[in-house]
Amino acid sequence: MSKYWNERIQKLEPYVPGEQPKDKRYVKLNTNENPYPPSPKVLQAIRDAANDQLRLYPDPNTDDLRETLAEATGLTSDHIFVGNGSDEVLAFSFMSFFSSDRPVMFADITYSFYKVYANLCSLETNVIPLDDEFKIPVDAFCEPNGGIIIPNPNAPTGQAISIDSIRKILDANAESVVIIDEAYVNFGAESVVPLIKDYPNLLVVQTLSKYSSLAGIRVGFALGNPELIDGLNRLKNSINSYTIDRMALAGAKAAIEDDLYYKQMADKIITTRQNTINSLLDLGFKVIPSQSNFIFITHPSIQAETLFHDLKNKGILVRYFNQPRISNYLRVTIGTDDEMNQFLKVLKGIINIE
Ligand SMILES: *Cc1c(COP(=O)(O)O)cnc(C)c1O
Repeated sequence: MSKYWNERIQKLEPYVPGEQPKDKRYVKLNTNENPYPPSPKVLQAIRDAANDQLRLYPDPNTDDLRETLAEATGLTSDHIFVGNGSDEVLAFSFMSFFSSDRPVMFADITYSFYKVYANLCSLETNVIPLDDEFKIPVDAFCEPNGGIIIPNPNAPTGQAISIDSIRKILDANAESVVIIDEAYVNFGAESVVPLIKDYPNLLVVQTLSKYSSLAGIRVGFALGNPELIDGLNRLKNSINSYTIDRMALAGAKAAIEDDLYYKQMADKIITTRQNTINSLLDLGFKVIPSQSNFIFITHPSIQAETLFHDLKNKGILVRYFNQPRISNYLRVTIGTDDEMNQFLKVLKGIINIE
């Protein structure tokens, strides 16, 4: 605490990001980054954008990138808002659409930033427990609320829900905005972007950080009806008009245009995920079904926290959440085959000793 902090800052409970350690080289399986490099075309586009134009502000409306996204999604560009990472898009969405009259709904086990945003915006919350199998209880999201946010697939469980389930939630909530956070949708779930034309209350949020191997340039976007997009623009232009720099705009555009490359990388990750799951089942782990680039696992006899520390000491970094219901689970990002083999080798060593 500081006497210079105003009341708003004193009340905040900030998000704690996964470690980006600098003490030694780890096999880094803790923040769901893509293990494969960005498309070579992306890197070339970023290099080309590093020119004397950088003295000029970037396009505040991100028109060129939105046109590219419009073509890729089959929407028109007035359905698209681009932000500095989807975390920014999500924060802007909470500020723009969620109401303090009624509680905002999200799951008890989900992306922990939602609670931070709700607190930042002084919103009441109705935290919905996942069922015993960590599935989203669809009916519980059909009660009156001031807004809903669900990641599909969910994080950190990795499990997806069907389009029909999301349609049901949208039908029951015509008066509030339903945000579907599709950060991991390209690793095996189904996108609800095609529902946007039928549901003016649907906002789909996506990111280049995971599927497109671009966590380092910070680009995310929202797709939804033009009224929602206008709302986000009103907010953005009241905070910072130029949220996306010229190099990020160029790299993002090239990434959207080279989807073929990224599909191939995602296919590799999905194959590696299945092989990793098979090996973990052989070691006695329980693995939550995953449609994402990470898995959520627990072992019947060795505490997750112990495993987390033992793995870290041996150079393997995974994510541990010391939270109710999931304190005996680890979230493990799917890396390359080589990284997963190192992870499994170290894990076998630990299990044999314990
Ligand atoms: C990683 C992640 C994000 C944030 O992505 P950025 O675009 O890098 O800000 C949003 N939602 C979920 C569920 C995530 O896991």
